[in-house]
Amino acid sequence: MYQKKYYSDFEAKKWIVEIGNRIYQKNFVAANDGNISVRVSPDTIWTTPTGVSKGFMTPDMMVKMRLDGTIIAGNRKPSSEVKMHLRVYRESEETNAVVHAHPPMATSYAIAGINLEKPVSPEAVVLLGRVPVAPYATPSTEEVPDSITPLIKDHHAVLLANHGALTWGRDLFEAYYRMESLEHYALMLTYSTNILNKANELNCNQISDLIEMRNKMGIKTGGVPPCKVPDQNPAQNQTSNQTKEQVIQNIVEKVTRRVIEQLQKGGSL
Ligand SMILES: [Zn+2]
Repeated sequence: MYQKKYYSDFEAKKWIVEIGNRIYQKNFVAANDGNISVRVSPDTIWTTPTGVSKGFMTPDMMVKMRLDGTIIAGNRKPSSEVKMHLRVYRESEETNAVVHAHPPMATSYAIAGINLEKPVSPEAVVLLGRVPVAPYATPSTEEVPDSITPLIKDHHAVLLANHGALTWGRDLFEAYYRMESLEHYALMLTYSTNILNKANELNCNQISDLIEMRNKMGIKTGGVPPCKVPDQNPAQNQTSNQTKEQVIQNIVEKVTRRVIEQLQKGGSL
Protein backbone atom coordinates (compact mmCIF):
# COMPACT_ATOMS: atom_id res chain seq x y z
CA MET A 1 0.00 0.00 0.00
CA TYR A 2 1.33 3.40 -0.97
CA GLN A 3 2.01 5.52 2.12
CA LYS A 4 0.55 8.98 1.82
CA LYS A 5 2.85 11.62 3.23
CA TYR A 6 2.59 15.29 2.44
CA TYR A 7 5.64 17.48 1.94
CA SER A 8 6.11 20.37 4.36
CA ASP A 9 5.72 23.88 2.87
CA PHE A 10 9.53 24.22 2.84
CA GLU A 11 10.06 20.91 1.03
CA ALA A 12 7.27 21.55 -1.49
CA LYS A 13 8.73 24.93 -2.53
CA LYS A 14 12.29 23.57 -2.66
CA TRP A 15 11.35 20.56 -4.85
CA ILE A 16 9.16 22.62 -7.20
CA VAL A 17 12.20 24.85 -7.89
CA GLU A 18 14.38 21.78 -8.50
CA ILE A 19 11.92 20.06 -10.86
CA GLY A 20 11.27 23.39 -12.64
CA ASN A 21 14.97 23.67 -13.31
CA ARG A 22 15.05 20.13 -14.70
CA ILE A 23 12.12 20.57 -17.09
CA TYR A 24 13.76 23.80 -18.33
CA GLN A 25 17.20 22.17 -18.78
CA LYS A 26 15.63 19.25 -20.62
CA ASN A 27 13.94 21.60 -23.08
CA PHE A 28 10.46 20.52 -21.98
CA VAL A 29 9.50 24.21 -21.77
CA ALA A 30 10.52 27.48 -23.45
CA ALA A 31 10.39 31.00 -22.00
CA ASN A 32 7.74 31.05 -19.23
CA ASP A 33 5.88 27.90 -20.32
CA GLY A 34 4.82 25.14 -17.97
CA ASN A 35 3.67 24.92 -14.36
CA ILE A 36 4.13 22.60 -11.41
CA SER A 37 2.14 22.04 -8.21
CA VAL A 38 2.39 19.94 -5.06
CA ARG A 39 -0.37 19.10 -2.57
CA VAL A 40 0.63 19.78 1.06
CA SER A 41 -2.71 19.00 2.75
CA PRO A 42 -6.03 17.57 1.49
CA ASP A 43 -7.18 21.07 0.47
CA THR A 44 -3.99 23.08 -0.23
CA ILE A 45 -1.25 23.16 -2.86
CA TRP A 46 1.89 25.14 -3.65
CA THR A 47 2.28 26.13 -7.29
CA THR A 48 4.50 28.09 -9.66
CA PRO A 49 3.92 31.81 -10.35
CA THR A 50 2.84 33.23 -13.69
CA GLY A 51 5.35 34.95 -15.96
CA VAL A 52 8.53 33.32 -14.65
CA SER A 53 10.81 30.87 -16.48
CA LYS A 54 10.84 27.46 -14.80
CA GLY A 55 14.64 27.60 -15.00
CA PHE A 56 14.92 30.79 -12.94
CA MET A 57 12.57 30.26 -10.00
CA THR A 58 13.30 30.67 -6.29
CA PRO A 59 11.23 29.21 -3.40
CA ASP A 60 9.92 32.65 -2.32
CA MET A 61 8.12 33.03 -5.70
CA MET A 62 5.71 30.16 -5.02
CA VAL A 63 1.98 30.61 -4.42
CA LYS A 64 -0.13 28.65 -1.93
CA MET A 65 -3.76 28.02 -2.87
CA ARG A 66 -6.84 26.18 -1.75
CA LEU A 67 -8.43 23.75 -4.20
CA ASP A 68 -11.29 26.24 -4.72
CA GLY A 69 -8.73 28.67 -6.24
CA THR A 70 -8.31 31.02 -3.24
CA ILE A 71 -4.73 32.29 -2.81
CA ILE A 72 -3.59 31.94 0.80
CA ALA A 73 0.16 32.71 0.68
CA GLY A 74 2.78 34.20 -1.62
CA ASN A 75 3.31 37.58 -3.27
CA ARG A 76 2.70 36.55 -6.86
CA LYS A 77 -0.17 35.33 -9.01
CA PRO A 78 -0.40 31.67 -9.98
CA SER A 79 -0.37 30.66 -13.64
CA SER A 80 -3.79 30.79 -15.32
CA GLU A 81 -3.17 27.13 -16.22
CA VAL A 82 -3.35 26.18 -12.53
CA LYS A 83 -7.07 25.54 -13.17
CA MET A 84 -6.27 22.17 -14.70
CA HIS A 85 -4.05 21.27 -11.70
CA LEU A 86 -6.88 22.12 -9.29
CA ARG A 87 -9.27 19.96 -11.31
CA VAL A 88 -6.92 16.96 -11.16
CA TYR A 89 -6.58 17.26 -7.35
CA ARG A 90 -10.34 17.56 -6.94
CA GLU A 91 -11.04 14.54 -9.14
CA SER A 92 -8.19 12.32 -7.91
CA GLU A 93 -7.71 12.02 -4.19
CA GLU A 94 -4.47 10.03 -4.51
CA THR A 95 -2.80 12.73 -6.64
CA ASN A 96 -0.26 14.86 -4.76
CA ALA A 97 1.62 16.51 -7.65
CA VAL A 98 0.91 17.76 -11.18
CA VAL A 99 3.40 18.76 -13.89
CA HIS A 100 2.52 20.62 -17.09
CA ALA A 101 5.07 21.20 -19.86
CA HIS A 102 5.40 21.44 -23.64
CA PRO A 103 7.97 18.71 -24.41
CA PRO A 104 8.53 19.03 -28.19
CA MET A 105 8.12 15.44 -29.35
CA ALA A 106 5.11 14.56 -27.17
CA THR A 107 3.56 17.95 -28.02
CA SER A 108 3.97 17.15 -31.72
CA TYR A 109 1.67 14.15 -31.17
CA ALA A 110 -0.74 16.51 -29.39
CA ILE A 111 -0.62 18.79 -32.44
CA ALA A 112 -1.21 15.85 -34.77
CA GLY A 113 -4.04 14.58 -32.54
CA ILE A 114 -2.41 11.13 -32.20
CA ASN A 115 -2.82 9.22 -28.92
CA LEU A 116 0.45 7.86 -27.52
CA GLU A 117 -0.61 4.26 -27.07
CA LYS A 118 1.34 2.02 -29.44
CA PRO A 119 2.81 -0.71 -27.18
CA VAL A 120 6.47 -0.71 -28.20
CA SER A 121 8.20 -0.30 -24.84
CA PRO A 122 7.57 -2.23 -21.59
CA GLU A 123 8.53 0.83 -19.53
CA ALA A 124 5.98 2.99 -21.33
CA VAL A 125 3.24 0.37 -20.77
CA VAL A 126 4.02 0.22 -17.02
CA LEU A 127 4.74 3.91 -16.41
CA LEU A 128 2.25 5.52 -18.79
CA GLY A 129 -0.21 2.98 -20.16
CA ARG A 130 -2.31 4.77 -22.77
CA VAL A 131 -1.86 8.51 -23.20
CA PRO A 132 -4.94 10.03 -24.88
CA VAL A 133 -5.26 13.45 -26.51
CA ALA A 134 -7.76 15.71 -24.72
CA PRO A 135 -9.79 17.90 -27.13
CA TYR A 136 -8.47 21.38 -27.91
CA ALA A 137 -9.45 24.05 -25.41
CA THR A 138 -8.68 27.78 -25.32
CA PRO A 139 -5.74 28.32 -22.92
CA SER A 140 -6.54 29.81 -19.50
CA THR A 141 -10.32 29.20 -19.80
CA GLU A 142 -12.43 26.66 -17.89
CA GLU A 143 -12.58 24.72 -21.17
CA VAL A 144 -9.10 23.34 -20.39
CA PRO A 145 -9.97 21.55 -17.12
CA ASP A 146 -13.30 20.49 -18.66
CA SER A 147 -11.45 18.87 -21.59
CA ILE A 148 -9.35 16.65 -19.29
CA THR A 149 -11.97 15.82 -16.63
CA PRO A 150 -13.29 12.61 -18.28
CA LEU A 151 -9.69 11.32 -18.52
CA ILE A 152 -8.48 11.99 -14.96
CA LYS A 153 -9.82 8.88 -13.21
CA ASP A 154 -8.34 6.30 -15.62
CA HIS A 155 -5.10 7.98 -16.66
CA HIS A 156 -2.12 9.81 -15.19
CA ALA A 157 -0.76 11.41 -18.36
CA VAL A 158 -2.64 13.20 -21.14
CA LEU A 159 -1.76 15.22 -24.22
CA LEU A 160 -3.55 18.56 -24.60
CA ALA A 161 -4.44 19.07 -28.27
CA ASN A 162 -2.26 21.74 -29.96
CA HIS A 163 -0.80 22.65 -26.58
CA GLY A 164 1.36 20.26 -24.50
CA ALA A 165 1.26 17.51 -21.91
CA LEU A 166 0.00 17.04 -18.36
CA THR A 167 1.14 14.33 -15.93
CA TRP A 168 0.21 13.68 -12.31
CA GLY A 169 1.24 11.27 -9.58
CA ARG A 170 1.25 10.29 -5.94
CA ASP A 171 4.30 12.50 -5.39
CA LEU A 172 6.26 15.09 -7.36
CA PHE A 173 8.86 12.60 -8.56
CA GLU A 174 6.24 10.21 -9.92
CA ALA A 175 4.53 13.09 -11.79
CA TYR A 176 7.87 14.39 -13.13
CA TYR A 177 9.17 10.95 -14.18
CA ARG A 178 5.93 10.39 -16.08
CA MET A 179 6.65 13.59 -18.03
CA GLU A 180 10.21 12.38 -18.74
CA SER A 181 8.95 8.94 -19.80
CA LEU A 182 6.30 10.50 -22.00
CA GLU A 183 8.82 12.52 -24.00
CA HIS A 184 11.28 9.61 -24.17
CA TYR A 185 8.56 7.25 -25.39
CA ALA A 186 7.31 9.79 -27.97
CA LEU A 187 10.87 10.10 -29.29
CA MET A 188 11.41 6.31 -29.53
CA LEU A 189 8.07 5.89 -31.22
CA THR A 190 8.95 8.56 -33.78
CA TYR A 191 12.36 7.02 -34.53
CA SER A 192 11.00 3.50 -34.91
CA THR A 193 7.81 4.36 -36.75
CA ASN A 194 8.92 7.26 -38.93
CA ILE A 195 12.68 6.88 -39.38
CA LEU A 196 13.34 3.12 -39.26
CA ASN A 197 9.81 2.52 -40.53
CA LYS A 198 9.47 -0.60 -38.41
CA ALA A 199 8.00 -1.02 -34.94
CA ASN A 200 7.40 -4.51 -33.51
CA GLU A 201 4.55 -4.12 -31.05
CA LEU A 202 4.18 -6.01 -27.79
CA ASN A 203 1.32 -8.51 -27.99
CA CYS A 204 -1.65 -8.85 -25.61
CA ASN A 205 -0.02 -11.63 -23.54
CA GLN A 206 3.09 -9.52 -23.00
CA ILE A 207 0.92 -6.54 -22.10
CA SER A 208 -1.11 -8.63 -19.60
CA ASP A 209 2.14 -9.47 -17.78
CA LEU A 210 3.12 -5.81 -17.68
CA ILE A 211 -0.30 -4.70 -16.41
CA GLU A 212 -0.07 -7.36 -13.70
CA MET A 213 3.33 -5.91 -12.74
CA ARG A 214 1.84 -2.41 -12.67
CA ASN A 215 -1.01 -3.61 -10.39
CA LYS A 216 1.58 -5.01 -7.98
CA MET A 217 3.18 -1.56 -7.87
CA GLY A 218 -0.18 -0.26 -6.63
CA ILE A 219 -0.82 1.72 -9.83
CA LYS A 220 -4.48 1.46 -10.80
CA THR A 221 -4.51 4.17 -13.48
CA GLY A 222 -2.97 4.39 -16.94
CA GLY A 223 -5.39 2.29 -19.00
CA VAL A 224 -4.44 -0.62 -21.25
CA PRO A 225 -2.90 0.06 -24.68
CA PRO A 226 -4.64 -1.57 -27.65
CA CYS A 227 -2.83 -4.79 -28.62
CA LYS A 228 -2.91 -7.81 -30.90
CA VAL A 229 -3.35 -11.44 -29.91
CA PRO A 230 -0.24 -13.49 -30.82
CA ASP A 231 -0.73 -16.00 -33.64
CA GLN A 232 -2.10 -19.34 -32.43
CA ASN A 233 -1.18 -20.95 -35.71
CA PRO A 234 1.94 -19.47 -37.31
CA ALA A 235 0.83 -20.84 -40.69
CA GLN A 236 -2.11 -18.47 -40.54
CA ASN A 237 -0.66 -15.05 -40.30
CA GLN A 238 -3.74 -13.55 -38.70
CA THR A 239 -4.03 -11.26 -35.75
CA SER A 240 -7.04 -9.72 -34.18
CA ASN A 241 -7.56 -6.80 -31.91
CA GLN A 242 -8.09 -7.72 -28.30
CA THR A 243 -10.31 -5.61 -26.13
CA LYS A 244 -9.45 -4.26 -22.72
CA GLU A 245 -11.89 -6.83 -21.25
CA GLN A 246 -9.95 -9.68 -22.87
CA VAL A 247 -6.68 -8.39 -21.42
CA ILE A 248 -8.28 -8.23 -17.96
CA GLN A 249 -9.70 -11.75 -18.51
CA ASN A 250 -6.16 -12.98 -19.30
CA ILE A 251 -4.86 -11.50 -16.05
CA VAL A 252 -7.70 -13.10 -14.06
CA GLU A 253 -7.02 -16.51 -15.65
CA LYS A 254 -3.30 -16.24 -14.96
CA VAL A 255 -3.83 -15.29 -11.29
CA THR A 256 -6.43 -18.09 -10.86
CA ARG A 257 -4.01 -20.63 -12.35
CA ARG A 258 -1.29 -19.54 -9.91
CA VAL A 259 -3.64 -19.72 -6.92
CA ILE A 260 -4.70 -23.27 -7.89
CA GLU A 261 -1.04 -24.33 -8.37
CA GLN A 262 -0.19 -22.91 -4.96
CA LEU A 263 -3.11 -24.75 -3.30
CA GLN A 264 -2.18 -28.01 -5.06
CA LYS A 265 1.34 -27.69 -3.66
CA GLY A 266 -0.24 -27.52 -0.23
CA GLY A 267 0.94 -24.00 0.29
CA SER A 268 -1.00 -21.26 1.93
CA LEU A 269 -2.01 -18.01 0.26
ZN1 LIG B 1 0.85 25.20 -21.42
